[in-house]
Amino acid sequence: MSRILQKPQSFYESFNRKPSQKHTTHYCPGCGHGILNKLMGEAIDQLNIQDRLIFVGPVGCGVFFYYYFHCAGISAPHGRASAVATGVSRSHPDAITISYQGDGDLAALGTNNALHAANRGERMIVFFINNNLYGMTGGQMAPTTLVDQKTTTSPYGRSLDNDGAPLRMAEIMALLDGPVLVARVAVNNPRNIRQARKVIQKGFQAQKEKKGYVFIEILSQCPTNWKKSPLEACKWIDETVSRYYPLGIKKDIVEETPSRSRRLEKSTFSRVAKTLKLDKQEETLTDVSSLPFDPISFKSAGFGGQGVLSLGMIFADAAMKKNLHVTWLPSYGPEMRGGTANSGVVISTDDIGSPVVDTPNLLVAMNKPSLIKFGPLVPSDGWLFYNSSLIDELPDLKASPFPVPATEIAKEAGTIKVANTVFLAVIAAKSKLFTLDELSMLLKEYFPEERVYQMNLYALKAGFKLAENL
Ligand code: SF4
Repeated sequence: MSRILQKPQSFYESFNRKPSQKHTTHYCPGCGHGILNKLMGEAIDQLNIQDRLIFVGPVGCGVFFYYYFHCAGISAPHGRASAVATGVSRSHPDAITISYQGDGDLAALGTNNALHAANRGERMIVFFINNNLYGMTGGQMAPTTLVDQKTTTSPYGRSLDNDGAPLRMAEIMALLDGPVLVARVAVNNPRNIRQARKVIQKGFQAQKEKKGYVFIEILSQCPTNWKKSPLEACKWIDETVSRYYPLGIKKDIVEETPSRSRRLEKSTFSRVAKTLKLDKQEETLTDVSSLPFDPISFKSAGFGGQGVLSLGMIFADAAMKKNLHVTWLPSYGPEMRGGTANSGVVISTDDIGSPVVDTPNLLVAMNKPSLIKFGPLVPSDGWLFYNSSLIDELPDLKASPFPVPATEIAKEAGTIKVANTVFLAVIAAKSKLFTLDELSMLLKEYFPEERVYQMNLYALKAGFKLAENL
């Protein structure tokens, strides 16, 4: 059988994506992905590099690569394949790293990752499949969608005025110093497929010789979302798509580029453990047998910068040290200072089903908007603490509110930043979950600088004293 008609050796013998169809891929009939995969497999066979491959797959139509390519592989979160491939490539200096990404993945969500990987000249080969839209998710407009092209999210066609011009990624990549080879090919007719085969072979050869970063953009037909027959889709690439996205080599300095190796930062287990602070023996606090609420659904809320996230985190951390089940879920607006923020903590003696705190039975409201938003959600038997230094008017509430002049006490301590520690002390004392000594010890870990620790300690002691009267 002619080599062209054979399945590449670097493919699995049978594809187990669908139990009933061992020899077909999941791609739609007429899709360009299958042709591209075949060309890649051929080049891998020809250069005998299968055992050196690490394939980083995307979220997108290429997500199931691991059913076809018989090599090491890792799936990256959406848009992050180039970043993951960077880690793979740097930690495996002898591997040949593939980053396989579609236009939603590389030209939208992961543009920054992709550009910086290219600019750094990471040692990897990037296959960028450009079919002008988000394929897997149903044909939404992508940065590569052509002007006037209709998609599910541009039903009247992409507007140049509203949406800008389609991104020509290959041309952008070719402007950077990092890449050694940048090309745009297509897989829509025999002539273009032959040309694509040559470029792909050259790209893999450059990887084999450790020459650096290679970017190959592939104009690939998507008959399903283009709503065309496979033949019409192939013609459309010739007649329309490749006019905006001209085929060809955009940059080629492979020959004159020497093989490169990056300095590999050698790390040891003890070094990693030290960095992650895992080298210290974990302090475990005395266990608790019961909770005031089981589970405690705690919400701390306030302005960004008031320490509501760290209040939740320290509370959760302390509970974890008591061998309780905990979750911590932060939520904040784009502005960390001045915007609103809250964190939800669930503490339980049993497994926790969800970290979401919709109806808190324990609330700390550090400012008025938080009290207005979350206060009415606290049930009548719940505990509600509010910052009486900043809140002079209360909304209608089911639960009895406990005033805590946290900002005033924090000012006495030396900085309003420790207002959250006042609340930490109050809820610890009221719930009898943690002693003053236990929290003092914990805060020392969080605030090793003596001056900062002393301010927090002042706030902690004042909070415990205040709680005696609540
Ligand atoms: S949706 Fe388009 S890109 Fe995805 S597999 Fe089908 S034809 Fe190919």
